[in-house]
Amino acid sequence: MNILITNDDGIHASGLFMLKKALEPLGKVTVIAPDRQRSASGHSITLHKPLRVERVKLPDGDFGYATNGTPSDCVSLGVLDIVGREVDLVVAGINRGPNLGWDLTYSGTVCAAMEGVVVGAQAFAVSVNNFENDTGFDFAAKFSAFIAEVLVNRRLPESVLLNINVPGLPENEITGVEVTRQGKRHYAGKLEKRTDPMGRTYYWLGGDGPLDRLEEGTDVKAVAEGKVSVTPIHLDLTGYSALDIVKSWGIESFRLSR
Ligand code: MN
Repeated sequence: MNILITNDDGIHASGLFMLKKALEPLGKVTVIAPDRQRSASGHSITLHKPLRVERVKLPDGDFGYATNGTPSDCVSLGVLDIVGREVDLVVAGINRGPNLGWDLTYSGTVCAAMEGVVVGAQAFAVSVNNFENDTGFDFAAKFSAFIAEVLVNRRLPESVLLNINVPGLPENEITGVEVTRQGKRHYAGKLEKRTDPMGRTYYWLGGDGPLDRLEEGTDVKAVAEGKVSVTPIHLDLTGYSALDIVKSWGIESFRLSR
């Protein structure tokens, strides 16, 4: 199996290296990651400046590739040049901090896995609900290897990736594994307005913690209960339940002048 791993925390993040170690017994692992912190870069790609790639020595003496690009760029660089089209699996992580609910399209981690699906590979993202320390990362690495092994024999449906979130708990305190749907999480008091020393106003995003709606069967609820959450995510963002509603508004009969 040809495995491409990336992240949005940067090439020096310990989670990326732990993922490499865990996946190595399953195939050839190539590490391509941003050269700096790129969290919350979403699905962005670099179009207006050169993409640079440098070989960097990893803690085990192997080489990985660091780029000035985004997490999604890493997948493109891997598939279009460094590894080639034969990438079977793209794994993004292990991210420091969870990627739950409405966070998904902000997340460089989850969007790198989305890019994996776009380029025709199987893909999953893995994150740990822990900003403080490394508790949960060992288990996340082990669970990633388990999922990668499952994906050797089973194929995800077209346009689908897995979004995995692991609680920041020791393995013996994790209460189970649940296949979930995407829940609802948002950041309420997100904006801080301040004044700089020159008297000008500036803003700082991301102040308060998230507000979760703890609905049954969701990723946010599973992780809150100490479970590992595995959510199949579809790249088709169509609001199917709204198709008929929007059609009923009559906007398709807009009179086009020709
Ligand atoms: Mn991150």
